[in-house]
Amino acid sequence: MTVLNQFVMRIPKSQSQAQPLSEMEGSVNILTLGCDKNRVDSERLAAQLQAAGYTVHLDDYNLPHPITIINTCGFINDAKEESVEVILDCVKEKQNGKIRKLIVFGCLSQRYQEDLRSEIPEVDAWFGTDAIEQILYYLRSKIQPELLNRRLLSTPSHYAYLKISEGCNHGCAYCAIPLIRGRHRSKPAEQLLEEARLLADKGVRELILVAQDLTSYGIDLYHRRELAGLLEGLARIPQLHWIRLHYAYPNHFPMEVLDVMRDNPQICHYLDIPIQHIDDDILKRMNRNITEKEIRLLLDTIRTRVPDIALRTTLMVGFPGETRKKFEKLYAFAEEIRFDRMGVFTYSHEENTLAYTLKNSISHLEKNRRKDEIMWLQQDISLEKNRKMLGKTFEVLIDSKQDGYYIGRTQYDSPEVDNMVLLRQQANRCEIGKFYQVRITRAHEYETNGKIITDTQPS
Ligand code: SF4
Repeated sequence: MTVLNQFVMRIPKSQSQAQPLSEMEGSVNILTLGCDKNRVDSERLAAQLQAAGYTVHLDDYNLPHPITIINTCGFINDAKEESVEVILDCVKEKQNGKIRKLIVFGCLSQRYQEDLRSEIPEVDAWFGTDAIEQILYYLRSKIQPELLNRRLLSTPSHYAYLKISEGCNHGCAYCAIPLIRGRHRSKPAEQLLEEARLLADKGVRELILVAQDLTSYGIDLYHRRELAGLLEGLARIPQLHWIRLHYAYPNHFPMEVLDVMRDNPQICHYLDIPIQHIDDDILKRMNRNITEKEIRLLLDTIRTRVPDIALRTTLMVGFPGETRKKFEKLYAFAEEIRFDRMGVFTYSHEENTLAYTLKNSISHLEKNRRKDEIMWLQQDISLEKNRKMLGKTFEVLIDSKQDGYYIGRTQYDSPEVDNMVLLRQQANRCEIGKFYQVRITRAHEYETNGKIITDTQPS
């Protein structure tokens, strides 16, 4: 019985014959699951496939395409379950003859390739995480190294993610990512600047920097933390209006980043910094290499050096040994610090991680109860903070329109995870991908309403 059986048992085996490749002209659909780092990998593969002559679709869940490639996620149970479900859905489409070639890569496949190969034989090819060249070769195309900085965007054309490094050297006890993505490897600054320039030339105005650990950028290549230097280089790209930071590791945080943030208007006063917990015993068991005292000092320093900064964090509840008392300490910390944006994960017992040897004694129900308690608290905190925006004016980037509203964000909100600003279409004339000065007129838990007063397009 493998780890995956619980997700895979549901489909009858079929006799479908694989179609010879020559009939595979036409279109490829890349379905991306998991995080924005996976998204960048898919966009890079998409650009290569397009250059090889394929018609490439990204995340088209409405129509099965002859060649379907799934970029999977596999770091916690929920993510694994979602990835297997998408694979099984595509297997059904293949059994119905709508998909001819089904290819799977990414974190789930990197972690469980042998099990998956025997569990789901309907998939034509399995690859790991670093698979662009192999997939192209499998589809009888060659990688074009000169195009590796190019991306076919799956995000709206005005914002994009920039993955500045791969892997992680930290050994957080609950985390399977280093097992999947390997050691920390920074991408050379000149390549990143080139990639950013190409994205900016294509209309990207907001660049979101991502990695497993943003703050270690450069320690392998330049033997020093070089995130601040990279940010200064990116801030010199004139078309980029917003530059945003995600996934900062709290330990050894490079304080010079705050100076660059303060001195360069393009760099959003926004920082995503997962803290996970605040109890020293739990932090030790999680192998986070930081103490409550150090976390508090760091957050104080960040808020002192950039007073209007929006702090996003991730907390984890239900880690082995988290007594009710230790959870209440975490709750009190969240209540005291009043983070601007927050996500809460429940502990997932992952094989081969350090924590797998610990007794996973807290029930699923109790884990979810603790997650809900903190998210209810955060909902009140978010409403309180949104009410403080009433009557004030903020620069807003318009992302989309839906149900009679334009949907936008301030510099304090990242796409897909944070708050939104809603503008009634009848009362506001604006364009998607453009920036406007907006006065906030109403406040809710996770969104506000506003009215345009002027537009502020970057020159
Ligand atoms: S910093 Fe910790 S949680 Fe984040 S990817 Fe690395 S090991 Fe995992």
